Amino acid sequence: MMSKFNDRPHDYEITWDYDYDVQISKEHKSYLDNQVKTITYNLLKKLKVFKEFEVHPVILDCGSLGVFCVGTCELPIIGIDIDNIIEGCAKYDVNVYTAIRTTIYHELAHAMQEYKGKIFDEDEAEKFAQDYETFGFINNI
Ligand SMILES: [Zn+2]
Repeated sequence: MMSKFNDRPHDYEITWDYDYDVQISKEHKSYLDNQVKTITYNLLKKLKVFKEFEVHPVILDCGSLGVFCVGTCELPIIGIDIDNIIEGCAKYDVNVYTAIRTTIYHELAHAMQEYKGKIFDEDEAEKFAQDYETFGFINNI
């Protein structure tokens, strides 16, 4: 663990910008941890852009599901609002775990946009997330 922090390409902490005093269920916490591992060993290995990334539960405004912390693209830091996801899923009849996954893919797409010096394009990020979720297809960003 020590060396992981010493090797960080930036010293950004999500607590600088977001309210992280948030309670999430053990079930959702373990799902998030497992997804970080799964995505690291599958998607990240194929992308060959980042070696690792972090996801933290936070409280976001305006029903936002997730956020990519600008400036962290070398080790993407992503915030995710589980309560907003649960609420949105109930409203649109979507599976919560599917929404958690696609939110992470969407925010990783923003990290790639930043890494490649592109503008943040919501349509491109959402298409990246949906194509990977639905077809396992990785769009070029
Ligand atoms: Zn977005």
